[in-house]
Amino acid sequence: MTNVYKAEYIWIDGKEPTHTLRSKTKVVPMGTEPPVWGYDGSSTYQADGHDSDLVLEPVAVYPDPLRGGDNKLVMCQVMFPDGSPHPTNSRTTACLAAEKYKDHDAWFGIEQEYTFFQGAKPLGWPEHGFPAPQGGYYCGVGADEVFGRDIVEAHLDACISAGIAISGINAEVMPAQWEFQIGPLGPLEVADQMWVARWLLYRIAEDFDVAATLDPKPVKGDWNGAGAHTNFSTKEMRDSLDKCIEAAKALGERHEYHIANYGDRIAERLTGRHETASYKEYSYGVSNRSASVRIPWQVARDGKGYIEDRRPNANFDPYIITRLMLETVCGKFQGEW
Ligand code: ADP
Ligand code: MN
Ligand code: MN
Ligand code: MN
Repeated sequence: MTNVYKAEYIWIDGKEPTHTLRSKTKVVPMGTEPPVWGYDGSSTYQADGHDSDLVLEPVAVYPDPLRGGDNKLVMCQVMFPDGSPHPTNSRTTACLAAEKYKDHDAWFGIEQEYTFFQGAKPLGWPEHGFPAPQGGYYCGVGADEVFGRDIVEAHLDACISAGIAISGINAEVMPAQWEFQIGPLGPLEVADQMWVARWLLYRIAEDFDVAATLDPKPVKGDWNGAGAHTNFSTKEMRDSLDKCIEAAKALGERHEYHIANYGDRIAERLTGRHETASYKEYSYGVSNRSASVRIPWQVARDGKGYIEDRRPNANFDPYIITRLMLETVCGKFQGEW
């Protein structure tokens, strides 16, 4: 028995064009909540050297599945010492949208695709040349089809132990590429949990000498990119197919704006090939996996449910996506634009 626990503070840095995760450990007296803490923002692309103190404000706390016991994972947002949000903090604006549109009871289920790398090449790829072309890898089984399953299983167990609403995992179309899904959850919960699930993935893969990457197009050529399909519904959509179609149309009216905020290098992935629709034009359709937005066949059959936005890149910011979906769809439902 000890009278302290370890709190792993996790936050988002200011790296451009895509922010990444940082973390450090605080030893906290047992029986007390993880307090507000601080760090040196000049080492995370968030401050100049002469005035670099930034504040870590805990927003969600989870049991730490890796250290076990009473230890915790503490998801934080980055603030200035005066209490205002840092410009790289996209959560505070997501929070405003979540509050504004809370009566719509929006749910999000996000599919995070990612790729394992060992050294300069994807895990399990041959030293020279390429593996067999895509075709047998998606949801595959066997040592010739899947690479890294032990890491994926450890990550799944860790997410479940941490109380994260992970809803499934699968091997993807490109060998060494995988997916996990978080949700359905509300806008802030899904985004907080997505960041913590990402952190757990990197941390667990580290022990296997493997790096997980959210690169949207990790291998050029005839290999699938990595996306983050975002499944979305409001209370009204869960009762009406017409509302699902209205939502799909609203997204089409703001296509360029969404594309510009769905992750760096999105044009490399949304080519119109490899199960994507071109970023240049918007489309939606029932069961259509080459449309920008898909209405799943069960939704058409049941006459209610949700829509799947297939455009987001794997390197998306979940706080930005949930805010945009709320502003575009719920804003449209309310006649705001
Ligand atoms: P796909 O067939 O596109 O691979 P997945 O099974 O990977 O779909 O992911 C679907 C996600 O959608 C899951 O996370 C699931 O929890 C979520 N989901 C299911 N119903 C809803 C809903 N009504 N609103 C939002 N998300 C939902
Ligand atoms: Mn999926
Ligand atoms: Mn997928
Ligand atoms: Mn999907």
